[in-house]
Amino acid sequence: MSTLRFKVVEEAIKRKALDVKAPSERSSEYFGMYVFNDETMKKYLSSKTYKALTDTMNNGTPLARELADSIAAGMKQWATDMGATHYTHWFQPLTGGTAEKHDAFVEHDGRGGMIEEFSGKLLIQQEPDASSFPSGGIRNTFEARGYSAWDPTSPAFIVDTTLCIPTIFISYTGESLDYKVPLLKSISAISKAATDVCKYFDENVTKVISYLGWEQEYFLVDEGLWAARPDLMLTGRTLMGHESAKNQQLEDHYFGAIPSRVMSFMKDLEYECYKLGIPVKTRHNEVAPNQFELAPIYEECNLANDHNLLLMIIIRKIAHKHCFRALLHEKPFKGVNGSGKHNNWSLGTDTGVNLLSPGKTPAGNLQFVTFLVNIMMAVYKRNGLLKASISSATNAHRLGANEAPPAIISTFLGQQLSAILDKIEISDASEAIKVNGKSEFRLDGIAHIPELLLDNTDRNRTSPFAFTGNRFEFRAVGSSANCASAMLTLNTAVAAQLKEFKVEVDSLIESGKSKEEAIFAVIKKYINECKVIHFDGNGYSDEWKEEAAKRGLDCETSVPLIFDAFLSKETVDMFASTGVMTDVELHARAEVNWEMYTKKIQIEARVLGDLALNHIIPVASRYESMLLDKLYKLNTLIAYDKMKDYAQEDMVVIEKISKHISEIRSNVKDMIEARKVANKIEDEREKAIAYHDNVASYFDKIRYHIDKLELIVDDEMWVLPKYRELLFIR
Ligand code: ADP
Ligand code: MG
Repeated sequence: MSTLRFKVVEEAIKRKALDVKAPSERSSEYFGMYVFNDETMKKYLSSKTYKALTDTMNNGTPLARELADSIAAGMKQWATDMGATHYTHWFQPLTGGTAEKHDAFVEHDGRGGMIEEFSGKLLIQQEPDASSFPSGGIRNTFEARGYSAWDPTSPAFIVDTTLCIPTIFISYTGESLDYKVPLLKSISAISKAATDVCKYFDENVTKVISYLGWEQEYFLVDEGLWAARPDLMLTGRTLMGHESAKNQQLEDHYFGAIPSRVMSFMKDLEYECYKLGIPVKTRHNEVAPNQFELAPIYEECNLANDHNLLLMIIIRKIAHKHCFRALLHEKPFKGVNGSGKHNNWSLGTDTGVNLLSPGKTPAGNLQFVTFLVNIMMAVYKRNGLLKASISSATNAHRLGANEAPPAIISTFLGQQLSAILDKIEISDASEAIKVNGKSEFRLDGIAHIPELLLDNTDRNRTSPFAFTGNRFEFRAVGSSANCASAMLTLNTAVAAQLKEFKVEVDSLIESGKSKEEAIFAVIKKYINECKVIHFDGNGYSDEWKEEAAKRGLDCETSVPLIFDAFLSKETVDMFASTGVMTDVELHARAEVNWEMYTKKIQIEARVLGDLALNHIIPVASRYESMLLDKLYKLNTLIAYDKMKDYAQEDMVVIEKISKHISEIRSNVKDMIEARKVANKIEDEREKAIAYHDNVASYFDKIRYHIDKLELIVDDEMWVLPKYRELLFIR
């Protein structure tokens, strides 16, 4: 085996599980110890300040600026008591991930010394040097100012010795430059629209909360092996590598015993998560070898999203401590499953009702059906936009491949719920609604939903948007994505839909129908209208692709073209009417998406070209020359015309190697030319399209020949760790 590869494999095999000391206390004792949570706030803030801040957190009441100083003082006191020395505004730029710039708590004390200082002004607003964050053209460099501003609805926390303050990030002119601003606006929009609809059923509802429970999938790879794969290091995925003879065929990894080195990593990770207030609950192996999943208990959407972003930071850190690399890329390995981030989403009222849980009373059932059908309508109308919200260069490898939902958005309901909707569609309102004293909704079958669904384990893993009993599960989200992109789009789409629904119902009521009759009539109409989005069959099948196209669903697979949905008139109107994003902000986002797409493909193309030319071809040539050398020596013993009898196989191999090498050479050369042409294009959209059509299209061609060489060339010479080592050694 080539020396480097041999060395890293040997080291990886020898590595032992770290001995993670199990904390002696129960999890509840240290849960949230690094969070400025309710308990800490009570301790560090005056009762007046505490009351005002919790009122802001729970009810969105604007916080008086005068209070900022006392909150900052309390926060700083707590943070320094916990050993923090620095603070940072923690925000979510459009590049994905999070950004932070640390400042120490120190200021001059005016007497030549230093004091620890943190004012309300510094808590509330800062001006990070924002010129290097993408703005999609909103900011010119000469007015590169961007502000980060405190989001009091998500609590501050401490990582290492830094107090992290969740913030929004906006431009000098007030446009959002992040994911948090539109997410928060979408949360308000859906609360308002859903509350208005809830009032048909219960006057006491004053707020509707959107909930998110994410399931994070990831791979773990030994750090030594990872470092010997420049493609993994630089792009997050393997750009080459022949499938291992064994991968996931036996399905023996899923729910199998967790290996001890991984178990120790998971315990450590969970411990860190608890201290940071992330309520992780579930851990298990996933389908592919070395693939795992982690899921918390669901939380309010904004907090859940901050927690997911924080988790993505922590998971990398803890993995490193255990000599692993956590791969959050959607498709690190060809031929085995990719990773997603299932977003479990639901709506709940401040009276404690889950609007996606079938009610116990007939009225509750009508409310449930109302929300269910409106959500389906929203997904139907915005299926292309929802797809855009989860699309990226990296997620493209997952969607559409035969292991994840196709690049078509549809909804899954399951047999029983489908049957109920079918029934509503053909029933007569006067039958369903019996007026006895007060009008009541009584469609047979609907009253029984709770019981029915309890034994309904109907699960369809091939659907990108599936109803799962008391929530929808948006499964198309990528494992490395900021969930906010998908969640803000979904929230806004449903908010806009509920607004429309209310207008229709109100106008029927005005024309003399009872409230129940009006709701029933509109629902019936919607069920019929949104049928095309409803698909309970196998989403992986080719028939579905054909069928979906016939139904008029968005079937575009080119990511740069999928992004066009951000700028359609319907999208612009939807975001404007709900107040979530302006036209300018949408254009900026589309620009950034195109730019990010281009950059990712550009980096992959460079890495692939370099590796092909300076890792693969030299090794293959060396092996080829070894074989030639053998023939040359053989020829000193045997006449050339007799050589065939002795070395025919060797001659075939030599020929194969030469062919693969020359194919790789010419394809890499053409790819580089295509890149040069694409780089000259100014328009971000056109450039991304060129990268998609003319550059990325070489990847599989080049890889094909490299992977063939991997099978032919002497294993001892091959430098890059192979799939069987990356995926099975831990
Ligand atoms: P699965 O069977 O899909 O793996 P899990 O039991 O692992 O499901 O749960 C997935 C996620 O769904 C968890 O984060 C869980 O808290 C969340 N979840 C459960 N109920 C709801 C709900 N009503 N709204 C939002 N998320 C929910
Ligand atoms: Mg799930």
